[in-house]
Amino acid sequence: MTGREQASRPPPRPRKHWGWGFEDQQPSPDEVEAAASGARRHLGFAPADVERPIALEDVELPPSRLEPPASLAHICRTDRYERATHSYGKGYRDIIRAFRGRYDHPPEVVAHPTDEAEVERVLAWCEEVGAAAIPFGGGTSVVGGIEPPGDRPSVTIDLRSMDRVLDVDRTSRAARIQAGAEGPRLERQLREHELTLRHFPQSFEYSTLGGWIATRAGGHYATLYTHIDDFVESIRAITPRGVWESRRLPGSGAGPSPDRLLIGSEGILGVITEAWMRTQDMWRRKESASVLFKSFESGARAVRALSQSGLHPSNCRLLDGDEAALTGAVKKMPAAHLRRMGAPRWLVATGSRPALLVVGFESADHELDEWIERAVELCQDHGGFVSSMDGSARGGNLSAPTEPDEQQDPDTPESAWRQAFLQAPYLRDTLIAAGIFVETYETAVTWDRLEALVATVRERIRDALGVDGVVTCRLTHVYPDGAAPYFTVLAPARRGDELAQWDEVKAAASEAIAAGGGTITHHHAVGRDHRPWYDRQRPDPFADALRATKAAVDPAGILNPGVLIDP
Ligand SMILES: Cc1cc2nc3c(=O)[nH]c(=O)nc-3n(C[C@H](O)[C@H](O)[C@H](O)COP(=O)(O)OP(=O)(O)OC[C@H]3O[C@@H](n4cnc5c(N)ncnc54)[C@H](O)[C@@H]3O)c2cc1C
Repeated sequence: MTGREQASRPPPRPRKHWGWGFEDQQPSPDEVEAAASGARRHLGFAPADVERPIALEDVELPPSRLEPPASLAHICRTDRYERATHSYGKGYRDIIRAFRGRYDHPPEVVAHPTDEAEVERVLAWCEEVGAAAIPFGGGTSVVGGIEPPGDRPSVTIDLRSMDRVLDVDRTSRAARIQAGAEGPRLERQLREHELTLRHFPQSFEYSTLGGWIATRAGGHYATLYTHIDDFVESIRAITPRGVWESRRLPGSGAGPSPDRLLIGSEGILGVITEAWMRTQDMWRRKESASVLFKSFESGARAVRALSQSGLHPSNCRLLDGDEAALTGAVKKMPAAHLRRMGAPRWLVATGSRPALLVVGFESADHELDEWIERAVELCQDHGGFVSSMDGSARGGNLSAPTEPDEQQDPDTPESAWRQAFLQAPYLRDTLIAAGIFVETYETAVTWDRLEALVATVRERIRDALGVDGVVTCRLTHVYPDGAAPYFTVLAPARRGDELAQWDEVKAAASEAIAAGGGTITHHHAVGRDHRPWYDRQRPDPFADALRATKAAVDPAGILNPGVLIDP
């Protein structure tokens, strides 16, 4: 499709300018009020005042400092909606600023290239006028990855008009996919070939293949293939100094990998335009179990045993007691009912909030009974109580996390948690409007340090909050040598001062993570927000090598300046 044809497409359903989802999915005043009173009941604190977001027509933007050249005018937009919706990612501080209509540095121009030639021309124009060029996928960054730097004019390059599956190699089970394909569109096209990429981050609905590759995104599955890295066969990118394309190979020992350098490059080396991706057959069999533990720590010991068993469960999420209760995954049950179920004494005792482990297996090939039975045994060896088991083998169906799983019993803890997981980004907008500070922090650390890190991060976050609040933790991904803890914080917002509150809690959490031996990010990328800690984490000679690489492919330093590395 050419740029001119693209311009004549019917206008897409507009996205909300300040939060998650579409403009017509704004939380209603009643929903916001209900969230505020729900906080008092379920979270144990009174939130700050309820507020309404600023309407887009009342947003005032600084005037644009750039005029696109006539040759690119048909793919460039400079209107308020485009500039506002490309100013920020979707982190808490992004949403707060957009909610209040504070747009200090919107991009001057948003370009929507439809092919590589147009990407090349946009980059050449940016170089000519000294503008920052910011590759943009779905704009779901939570680390300031797509925010214009402000010290120079900026052009955001939105890749979403390049969203097709171009080729499928059924023999090698791989597909060539354009970088701007959002999760659902990508999966729909693969499904026509009975294939799946099987990469489902929580942001799946709106994030893109190019964004996943550029940020080393982590999917929904807990073991084995956790990061997008594992699915990349080869990448094609446009740099200001030419095309960077690797050869399609199932594996290679030929020196440092050109793909590995682009994976996680966060838009500083080139614009990823397409990639050959390793796909998979759709699952036909599925088994899962929900197991309750007395404490998060005893659950973590069971998870370690599972991750070192070689069973490789596709799902292996451990939620602490607060998260299991708040998401509705574990409901309070009468003691008599628990006794009838043969629950252990610690669970029958009133007031206990058990940790929940959801463990599951999927296969396109073989039966899974032996796998789930052995996994359950390992959990029981560590004091786990199996509260439910669920199996399905109806064949040929794929359920991405954005779709209801028609094969699953809606009453299981797994599906309750899954629903909460899918709704979380929408709920976050409502909570923010209701005066609640809501943020997440994630890392990965080796097993020997996990317990201490989790305890310290919780404590430092609570100290930094200095007010009532809830800090929950879950393990999102697990490895034989460690795990990825993910913390969620809910607290009363300091109305009008949320950005300072965010800075304080972020610094406390990040310092505790660094001191505890964790990485500053397991799957959210570095962007601008993680720079202080990333700069301390990466080896200095590596930073020099990265700088030299950037200088070679982007000598004018136009690509996403300030992200990952300084010149
Ligand atoms: C509610 C919510 C849930 C999330 N859940 C997850 C999760 O489960 N797992 C996870 O990993 N992350 C998650 N994230 C973070 C975010 O969705 C990921 O970082 C995602 O990979 C970003 O993809 P995107 O297409 O939106 O990229 P963007 O946000 O548009 O860009 C992110 C970075 O990649 C660069 N980039 C984007 N496209 C290209 C391209 N084609 N070429 C070169 N550079 C490019 C940008 O310049 C920027 O630096 C979540 C975010 C939110 C808001």
